[in-house]
Amino acid sequence: MTKQTILVAGSGFAGVWTVLAAARAIALAGREDDIDVIMVAPQPRLAIRPRFYEAVLENMDPDVSELLEAVGARFVDGIVETIGTETHEAAILRNDGTREAIGWNRFVLATGSRVAMPPIPGLDNHAFTVDQLDQAHRLDAHINGLPDLPETPARHTVVVAGGGFTGLEAATELHERLRTMFAPQAPRVVIVDPAPEIGAEFGDEAGRTVREALAEIGIEQRPGVLLAAVDADGAQLSDGSRIEAATVVWAAGVRAHPLAAEVSGEHDVAGRVVGDLFLRAPAAPGIFVTGDTVKAATDDIGNFNLMTCQHALSLGRVAGYNAAAELVGLPLHPYSQPKYVTCLDLGAWGALYTEGWDRQVKLTRAEGKKLKQEINGVWIYPPAADRDAVFAVANPDFVIVP
Ligand SMILES: Cc1cc2nc3c(=O)[nH]c(=O)nc-3n(C[C@H](O)[C@H](O)[C@H](O)COP(=O)(O)OP(=O)(O)OC[C@H]3O[C@@H](n4cnc5c(N)ncnc54)[C@H](O)[C@@H]3O)c2cc1C
Repeated sequence: MTKQTILVAGSGFAGVWTVLAAARAIALAGREDDIDVIMVAPQPRLAIRPRFYEAVLENMDPDVSELLEAVGARFVDGIVETIGTETHEAAILRNDGTREAIGWNRFVLATGSRVAMPPIPGLDNHAFTVDQLDQAHRLDAHINGLPDLPETPARHTVVVAGGGFTGLEAATELHERLRTMFAPQAPRVVIVDPAPEIGAEFGDEAGRTVREALAEIGIEQRPGVLLAAVDADGAQLSDGSRIEAATVVWAAGVRAHPLAAEVSGEHDVAGRVVGDLFLRAPAAPGIFVTGDTVKAATDDIGNFNLMTCQHALSLGRVAGYNAAAELVGLPLHPYSQPKYVTCLDLGAWGALYTEGWDRQVKLTRAEGKKLKQEINGVWIYPPAADRDAVFAVANPDFVIVP
C-alpha cells in the first residue's frame, strides 16, 4: 500500500500541535506504518511570538526536532511556495535553494500571520516591530545603542503606533527599559491609536484599568490619531503634530500569511480562511486551516477565534487530529473553545488578567504579572520529547487556561 502524507506548513504553535495531534490520532488507529506526517518550515523551531516585546530575548525559539522525532514526524526545512490546491502537490523551496515537490493527502496550513505594513511613508525603513524574532532583535540592538546617540529629547522618546495588546506590551516594556537606561531622566513614551480612547477594545472595566496603569507609569496616550509618516528623527501624526523620537514602533494589526489567499473560499478582513466546524477549508478539498490562518467559531453564541497563541494551541490540536482522523476513519472532532482569557503585561505596573469575552478583570498588578510570567515562561512552550507524555496532552479537547 502506498503511504499517505499529512503535510503541515509552519512550526509555530498551531503547526507543532497539529503534528503532535495528528501523530497521536494515527497511533490510536495503529496506522503509523502507512501515514507520514511531515512538517515544512524554515527551521525546526517554535517562535514564541508572544514574548517578542520582552527586554531579554533568550530562549525565544526552542528547537522542536527531538519532539517531532519522538512522535515519528519528519521535518523538511524550507518554505511552502504553493500549496497545490488542485494537484495536491506542494512546491517547497528548501533552505539550500533547491526546489522539491511533496504530494499530500491532507494539507494543514499553519503559516501564521505577519504584522500588516500599510503604505505609510517611511514605515518600512524607519519603524521597528516586535512581530518576528529578527525584528525584535533589531529593536533590541537599536535600544541598546540609544546611549551612544546625541543627548536630545528624541533619544529617550518612543512612539508606539497601535494601542492593542502588542502595542501596550511593547510601550510599557520600553518605558521600563528606557527609565533604567536614562535615569534620572524620565523617558517619554507615547501611544498613538485611532480609537477614541486607548484600551477601548478591552471594554469598560479592563479599558479603564489599562488607562489608569498607563497614567501611573507615565505613558502618554494619544487616542483619535493615526501615524501619518515616519522618518529617521520621529513621527508625523494625522492631526498635523510631530513627535521627535529616535524610536518608532509599529504594532497596528496583523494579517494572515499570504498562502491563505491561495485557499479557495471565504476570507475575512485579516485574510484568514473561514473554516468549518472541523477546521477544513470548505471550498478546498483536503485542506485544513489552523492558527492565525483560520477564522472559526469558538462557541455557538457568535464568538470567533482571535489571532492569538491561546487559540492557536487548541486550533492546532483539532486540525491535526481531524486531518489524521479523515485518513484513518475516526470520527472528526468539532472545534470549540468557549473559555477566553487575556493576560496583558503592563510593565512596571504588573499585568491585567481578564476572563470572558466581556473581559471581567480578575487579577491585576503583581498577581497578574505572576500569572503572565507563568504563561509566557512555561505554558506556551513545547513539551519535552516524550511520546507518551506528549500524546497525553495532544488530544483535540485539551485546553490550557487558568
Ligand atoms: C509581540 C506579540 C505579542 C503577542 N502576545 C500574545 C498574547 O499575549 N497572547 C496570545 O494568545 N497571543 C499573543 N500573540 C499572538 C500569537 O503570537 C499568534 O497568534 C501565534 O503566534 C499564532 O500562531 P501560529 O502557529 O498560527 O502562527 P505563527 O506563530 O506565526 O507561526 C507560523 C509558522 O509558519 C512558518 N512559516 C511562515 N511561512 C511559511 C511558509 N511559506 N512555509 C512554511 N512555513 C512557514 C513560520 O516560520 C512559523 O514557524 C502575540 C504576538 C506578538 C507578535
